[in-house]
Amino acid sequence: MNSFEYMQPNNLESASKFLVKNNSSYAFAGGTDILGLIKDDIVAPKQLVNLKKINSLNFIRHDNENGLSIGALTKLSDIENNEIVRTKFSLLSQAISEVATLQLRNVGTIGGNICQRPRCFYFRGDFDCIRKGGDTCFALTGNNKYHCIVGGGPCYIVHPSDSAVALLALNAKFKIFNGKDETVIPAKDFFVLPDVDDMKENILKDGEILTEIIIPNPNTETVSKYIKVKERGAWDFALVSIAGVFNIKNKKILDGKITFGGVAPIPWEEETLNAKLKNISIDEKSINQLSDSAFNKTDALEMNSYKIPLAKNLIKKLLLEI
Ligand SMILES: Cc1cc2nc3c(=O)[nH]c(=O)nc-3n(C[C@H](O)[C@H](O)[C@H](O)COP(=O)(O)OP(=O)(O)OC[C@H]3O[C@@H](n4cnc5c(N)ncnc54)[C@H](O)[C@@H]3O)c2cc1C
Ligand code: SF4
Repeated sequence: MNSFEYMQPNNLESASKFLVKNNSSYAFAGGTDILGLIKDDIVAPKQLVNLKKINSLNFIRHDNENGLSIGALTKLSDIENNEIVRTKFSLLSQAISEVATLQLRNVGTIGGNICQRPRCFYFRGDFDCIRKGGDTCFALTGNNKYHCIVGGGPCYIVHPSDSAVALLALNAKFKIFNGKDETVIPAKDFFVLPDVDDMKENILKDGEILTEIIIPNPNTETVSKYIKVKERGAWDFALVSIAGVFNIKNKKILDGKITFGGVAPIPWEEETLNAKLKNISIDEKSINQLSDSAFNKTDALEMNSYKIPLAKNLIKKLLLEI
């Protein structure tokens, strides 16, 4: 483990200044991911900038006009157990309850969960792969059981965050501070595919901080659900997960959105599937048609084509359960 300077700014401007000063500075929120990366020599920061002293980033607010607003430093367990989140935005609460263990959710933050690094065991191990600046993807010819089936190349990670899959389905927006100004972007524009940048998972530049997550109010007919398939019953990352938000009336989906985890380097939307979620009856025929319309064009690797029927069957399960 390398030596590093440890900074504890109490406002956003200073935090951003420290982060931009040195391009091997890292933000430190709950520390549940970044400390593991430092101890395993995957990253070697010169400065570690603790964001936890910035009190203005720890909040959950709701109003009927603007919806739900969550500060990036809010702990996952505080969001999971918040009464408004549980009742009005239950998809987020369900997805967060699937993150890791209670102990990790008591420490990890929503900003850290969205910005966490991938779990590919070559990336986490002693392999100088493309995502670490090398020129080889070891997963391509190695063990690729847990890797992506869509959106891959030249790197084939899956995005590890459960909360991000729910936030994409909920049409969330992310607020980013760049040292001077704040910008708000749709969650789907935050994440980047490896063919755009094979060393980063999101658009944040040096010094930029994710500050807030904003989720519009659902309407009164909204039904939602998160399902996560793991290899084992105890805590684990998703083999495939699915989130769905639907406006339903008289057994008909008026409109809706389905998103997936565990299939792509970013939280994933199958556009052909979502385009069909308009004025459609929830019956056996349409459920089969919806499932058939997804994941027909994939780049599954040697060991992960099992994810195609798994994702298709999760669409059926989700629709039957809602
Ligand atoms: C054993 C284990 C099991 C896990 N299982 C799951 C799981 O099933 N599902 C799941 O979703 N996650 C899982 N995780 C990941 C866990 O949820 C994350 O470690 C946690 O959410 C990260 O939050 P943190 O606040 O501790 O982030 P940190 O470790 O502090 O930071 C993580 C990364 O985000 C950056 N960062 C943090 N906050 C910000 C910000 N506001 N702006 C910009 N960059 C920022 C940091 O620089 C760092 O690169 C697991 C982790 C472990 C260790
Ligand atoms: S999938 Fe990405 S992170 Fe994993 S070995 Fe290949 S390049 Fe590295």
